[in-house]
Amino acid sequence: MSKILYVEDNLANRLLVKRILEAAGHTVLEAVDGLEGIRVAQETIPDLILMDINIPGMDGYEATTKLKGIPELKNTPIIALTAKVMAGDREMALTAGCDGYIPKPIDVDMLPSQVDEFLGGKREEVPAAQERVYLRQYSQQLVDRLENKIAELTRANAELQRMDELKSRFISIAAHELRTPITVMQGYLTILLDPSSGFLLDDKLIEILKGMEKGIDRLHRIMNDMLDVTKIEGGTLDLHLGPLAIKDVISRAIQEQQPFAQQRHQQIIADDFSGYPLVYGDSERMLQVFCNLINNGIKYTPDGGTIRIYGRMIRADGDLRMTRPIVSQGDMLEVIVEDTGIGIDPDDQERIFLRFYEVKDPSLHSTSQSRYLGGGIGLGLAIARGIMEAHGGQVWVESEGCDHERCPGSKFHVTIPLATSVTD
Ligand code: ADP
Repeated sequence: MSKILYVEDNLANRLLVKRILEAAGHTVLEAVDGLEGIRVAQETIPDLILMDINIPGMDGYEATTKLKGIPELKNTPIIALTAKVMAGDREMALTAGCDGYIPKPIDVDMLPSQVDEFLGGKREEVPAAQERVYLRQYSQQLVDRLENKIAELTRANAELQRMDELKSRFISIAAHELRTPITVMQGYLTILLDPSSGFLLDDKLIEILKGMEKGIDRLHRIMNDMLDVTKIEGGTLDLHLGPLAIKDVISRAIQEQQPFAQQRHQQIIADDFSGYPLVYGDSERMLQVFCNLINNGIKYTPDGGTIRIYGRMIRADGDLRMTRPIVSQGDMLEVIVEDTGIGIDPDDQERIFLRFYEVKDPSLHSTSQSRYLGGGIGLGLAIARGIMEAHGGQVWVESEGCDHERCPGSKFHVTIPLATSVTD
């Protein structure tokens, strides 16, 4: 028979109408509010829509007006099935776009024939003069709702901003306060483990102290990341900028990451960067960026994979990529860190640069810098992007998608401004 969509928040009413209309041979689809109703209607194109008016969020009038504007639904009658039975409620429903009006309580015996009439072509209308009056009233109601919503959203936004500032302040204070005792512990451990300090330690104790040293080292890195992220947010990241050769930064980053790659039987292959002009940057901060990217490449690539690092010159004004370094004012160097790993879904490719954002299950957190899929706290890429943006550069990712079997890989692009002295 017919496919009928019933938009109603009350479960008892939904069950009742479903039972009555299914007994009459119709198929009944359900939606609990206006937004769901619009989605289901667009997906299923029903033959008729029964619309409750008092529903949460977008009310039945607004949902009807929206539905009437969807071309695929222009022939679908929308019938208000509502407990709004005061004078003018019927006219208001018809003015909002309804093609009919059935007042509640539902008459079990009558409902199938009422629905059949509308399926058969019956349409109700309001006289034009009356419609104008209700239309004005309806527009006024809509503007009032819009005004309230905007005020509500503005308040919620201000509150979110306040919470965000509080959170940043908390992170900054916590990281500062925790760093000092951690540094003290690190210092004592170094003294204890230094053979020249003269402490008599047996092998077991040395092993325990080394374990502690590793844990403290990890804590130190987390604290530093948290501090970096608050500095980036607050625009207080201190950069010691100067002309530098990118090949030095890349080779130091590779040297630092090589042991982790070896643990995973991976290869890090880099182009010869000696032909590129000097870039303008902070060598320690850039080292941090490339260590983060290479380390992610190692963690999100299966054993035996490859991390490739190569460069090319690009024009600052956009997409002209040059295979040979021909330098002109405003050119940039682009370094690409490409892996043969699991890849990243297009939907996540921007989100991974957000603070504390992780694609995977947090239970995979790992203190190791090499464990397969063992994530950290989700700050590495936010910091890498923050550092490069403070340089006037950019970081972004390109990947076909995430696939643990096929491993399509990811390409992280980094653009770095050239040292102006070289471009003269
Ligand atoms: P984390 O500390 O979790 O590694 P990052 O900010 O470095 O934090 O990365 C954020 C998320 O981005 C990671 O949790 C991971 O899901 C994804 N990601 C980063 N690099 C890669 C990569 N090379 N391949 C696949 N996914 C990656």
